[in-house]
Amino acid sequence: MSETLENLLKETRTFEPPAELAANANVTADAYEEAAADRLAFWEKQAQRLDWAKPWEQVLDWSNPPFAKWFVGGELNIAYNCVDRHVAAGKGDKVAIHWVGEPGDTRDITYAELLKLVSQAANTLTELGVTAGDRVAIYLPMIPEAAVAMLACARVGATHSVVFGGFSVDALSSRIQDASAKVVITADGGYRRGKPSALKPTVDEAVAQSPSVEKVLVVRRTGEDVAWTDKDVWWHETVEQAAGTHEAQPFDAEHPLFILYTSGTTAKPKGILHTTGGYLTQTAYTHHAVFDLKPETDVYWCTADIGWVTGHSYIVYGPLANGATQIMYEGTPDTPHKGRFWEIVDQYKVTILYTAPTLIRTMMKWGDDIPAKYDLSSLRILGSVGEPINPEAWMWYREHVGHDNAPIVDTWWQTETGAMMISPLPGVTATKPGSAMGPLPGISADVVDDQAQSVPNGGGGYLVLREPWPSMLRTIWGDDQRFIDTYWSRFENMYFAGDGAKKDDDGAVWLLGRVDDVMLVSGHNISTTEVESALVSHPSVAEAAVVGATDPTTGQAIVAFTIPRGTTDISGDAGEKLIQELRNHVAKKLGPIAKPRQIMLVPELPKTRSGKIMRRLLRDVAENRSLGDVTTLQDSAVMDLISSGLQSGK
Ligand code: ATP
Ligand code: MG
Repeated sequence: MSETLENLLKETRTFEPPAELAANANVTADAYEEAAADRLAFWEKQAQRLDWAKPWEQVLDWSNPPFAKWFVGGELNIAYNCVDRHVAAGKGDKVAIHWVGEPGDTRDITYAELLKLVSQAANTLTELGVTAGDRVAIYLPMIPEAAVAMLACARVGATHSVVFGGFSVDALSSRIQDASAKVVITADGGYRRGKPSALKPTVDEAVAQSPSVEKVLVVRRTGEDVAWTDKDVWWHETVEQAAGTHEAQPFDAEHPLFILYTSGTTAKPKGILHTTGGYLTQTAYTHHAVFDLKPETDVYWCTADIGWVTGHSYIVYGPLANGATQIMYEGTPDTPHKGRFWEIVDQYKVTILYTAPTLIRTMMKWGDDIPAKYDLSSLRILGSVGEPINPEAWMWYREHVGHDNAPIVDTWWQTETGAMMISPLPGVTATKPGSAMGPLPGISADVVDDQAQSVPNGGGGYLVLREPWPSMLRTIWGDDQRFIDTYWSRFENMYFAGDGAKKDDDGAVWLLGRVDDVMLVSGHNISTTEVESALVSHPSVAEAAVVGATDPTTGQAIVAFTIPRGTTDISGDAGEKLIQELRNHVAKKLGPIAKPRQIMLVPELPKTRSGKIMRRLLRDVAENRSLGDVTTLQDSAVMDLISSGLQSGK
């Protein structure tokens, strides 16, 4: 970006919180004032939601920036906070996890049962030689053992590194080696689209390349035959036979809890390191505040995979620290049918749903009649995370899932931030479709221009964080210099998030996509998000991805890849006509500067395994280059599909 981002999309709709929800909300507008008056006192108060074995001496040590220490001198055990203390408080019979397997098998696990499982797994890890500070890689499907394994690591002070179960041998082995993991926890396989999908062969190959691995702990999920090595031990022959009690030792507030590699949308994955006390404080607080969690009555469901940070912070640590009852689902949203998510919501009377824009747009594409078949009246709060949510998708979510009154909380955060940073509060904030609204209490986010000056309302630029926050990353594993270069060097004394954003006329924050994706057209910086949102607002469009391709006259020109909605006729002239209509539609919504030079109608878009659009590959297509690194792509066949079936128009 040369200066600031254009502010093209205007949105005037606003939605007040429902009166009853506002009247009973966990957090009110006072929280903003309280945190503004004394940020550290505010976080100190939030830390008291946890049970500490030893109190801290100092809330924040920022004497050596950007290396932060929160709750200095304090000690706690994360697993104790997520499990034991709820049992000790008499809630042992409360369901922690309603697990739903893809083939239809289910398990309900109470807090007392979770305590036994985590204690058994902790005893087994100790027996396998794992001690505090060791690294353990976890490569599992979405089965309860995944949460148990993470909590067992936390319990014994081992640092876990969860690798998404869909990743390849190379992705797994490079992550194992980067962290020198001593143990790998995996399964024979999991269920994916109605079939068993093996995991163990990938682990066998990855472990063969990774000398640090001493033992591989294998959960039996599918029962399919697996090859066996002398490093392998079965979960059911060890964990399930181990003693069911285990005394949890407290660890320092800055003890390393986990390493998680970012999804790699833009570059080589970075091993983001999170620690103990500050991380649990902010995940627990935000889960309580942003979802207005009432642990006694709510049924919460986050549809993310535990391989992503959302699964870490909002399936495992935040909800369990708060004693929530939640759903955990193993499979895909279209197996065995496209109503699976809504069937689960209906059956378990889910009250809080947290999902991603890619899923909402997919559901839109599948049709309104599918959610309409189920009773979704239990839902009272809807969350979104992962990408900017287009206003049209936001409205669809509200109308077809949230029965026109459940507040939507669009939560902006990153693997690096550990927990939510920018989001409405459901009982306080009047929301606008497509906006994450404002920083949460205790968070100082801003939008600045090239010169690090705060942009006025109506302006756009770079999203930054001005003050350290409890769940911030502490470094990139083994690479302090890359940590400094990536996040703390673009602007002095500010964390550079790498995302573009704008403030609207009321000061609400709108995320505009990654700064690497911003297009420079005839001297104007145009965000991919705004052009995509304009395209998605056309009734014939289900999804869109936009890139800037080199252009001899305008520097860069806007090239759009668009998936038509299911019923749209695009054969012959109809396709060409639609393309012209869409170009004019964008020009009308955003102004002539944003009119795409070219629109391609495509059947699919390339996405990362966490469902985010990978624009850099589309830029390769738009500029007729051979494709860059495709290893984090969800489905490598998509690029062939796009390149072979291109219907383009000028
Ligand atoms: P990598 O950093 O390796 O390229 P990644 O950024 O996709 O991967 P994550 O940490 O999972 O990895 O994603 C964080 C990013 O997702 C944010 O920086 C932002 O671009 C996007 N994002 C997340 N939530 C939102 C949201 N509510 N609105 C807009 N964008 C969001
Ligand atoms: Mg990122």
